Amino acid sequence: MPLSMKLENRIALITGGGRGIGRAIALAFAREGAQVAIAARTLEQVERVAGEITGQFQANALPVVCDVSDVASVERMFARVGECLGRGPDIMVNNAGIVESAPIGRTDDELWNRHLAINLSGSFYCTRAALPGMIERRWGRIINMASIAGKTGAPYIAAYSASKHGLIGLTRSSAAEVAAKGITVNAICPGYVDTDMTTSAVENITRKTGRSADEAMESILKMSPQNRLVTAEEVAALALLLASDDGRGINGQAISIDGGTVLS
Ligand code: NAP
Repeated sequence: MPLSMKLENRIALITGGGRGIGRAIALAFAREGAQVAIAARTLEQVERVAGEITGQFQANALPVVCDVSDVASVERMFARVGECLGRGPDIMVNNAGIVESAPIGRTDDELWNRHLAINLSGSFYCTRAALPGMIERRWGRIINMASIAGKTGAPYIAAYSASKHGLIGLTRSSAAEVAAKGITVNAICPGYVDTDMTTSAVENITRKTGRSADEAMESILKMSPQNRLVTAEEVAALALLLASDDGRGINGQAISIDGGTVLS
C-alpha cells in the first residue's frame, strides 16, 4: 500500500493549536503532508507543537501568536501565513475556544462577551479572511470546532452553548454560500474530550460541589453511553476526513463525536 499523504501540497491553519484537540489536528495534518501553521495566544505552546512536528515528521511548521477575538490580530496572522508559506490556508480549522460555567444570574457581560468573541466572532474573522484565497483556487476546507453544547443545552453553560449554537449557524450558512466553489464547511461537535479543558471542568465541579475529583470525573463519564472520554486523536481523525479530498461530499454538517450522547 502506498504511503498515505492525504494533505500533500495543502496549507493548513489551526487556531488553538498549542495544546489539546488543536495540537492533535496539527500533528495529524502534518503527518499527512500538509504544511501547518499553528496559532494561539501562548507563544511557548505553539512553538512546542511546531517543534514536535519537526521532530516527528522532519517538516517545518509555523507557530503564530494570535488572539482570534481581536480582528487586527487575525489580520496579522493571515499576513504572516501568506508571507511565510506563500499563500493563505487551503484548510482553516477554527478550533480556538474557551469554556467557563456560571448560572445565568451570575453570567456577567464580560463572561458572555468573552465566549461570543472567542468562540464565535473569532471563527467568523478567520472564515472571512480565509475564503477569498479558497474561492480563487476553487478548493478549500473550513472546519469549525463546535460541541454537542452547540446542539443541546445544559445548566450553567448558557454563554458557551450559545456561542457553539452560533458557530453551527455560521457553518451551515457559509457551507450553503460556497458549496459550488469547491469548498466545504463543516462543524465537529465533540462530547467531553481528554484535554486540559475537561481537567478544568473536573476541578470546577470539585470546587463548586465539594465532590472528589473521581466523583466529578464519573459524573462526566456517565454522560456518554460509552462511559469514556473521547480522545483528541479521534477528533483529529474526523478532521482529517473532512480536510481531505475523500471528504469533499460532506458539507454543512455538524458531526457529533461523543459516543452517542446526542442522537441528532
Ligand atoms: P484546550 O486544551 O483548553 O485548548 C484550547 C486552545 O485554544 C489552546 O491552544 C488555547 O491557547 C486556544 N485559545 C483559547 N482562546 C484563544 C484565543 N482568544 N485566541 C487564540 N487561541 C485561543 O481546549 P480543547 O479541549 O483542546 O478544545 C479545543 C476546542 O474544542 C474548543 O473550541 C472547545 O470548545 C472544543 N471542545 C472541547 C471539548 C472538550 O471536552 N475538551 C468538547 C467539545 C468541544 P491559548 O490559551 O494559549 O490562547
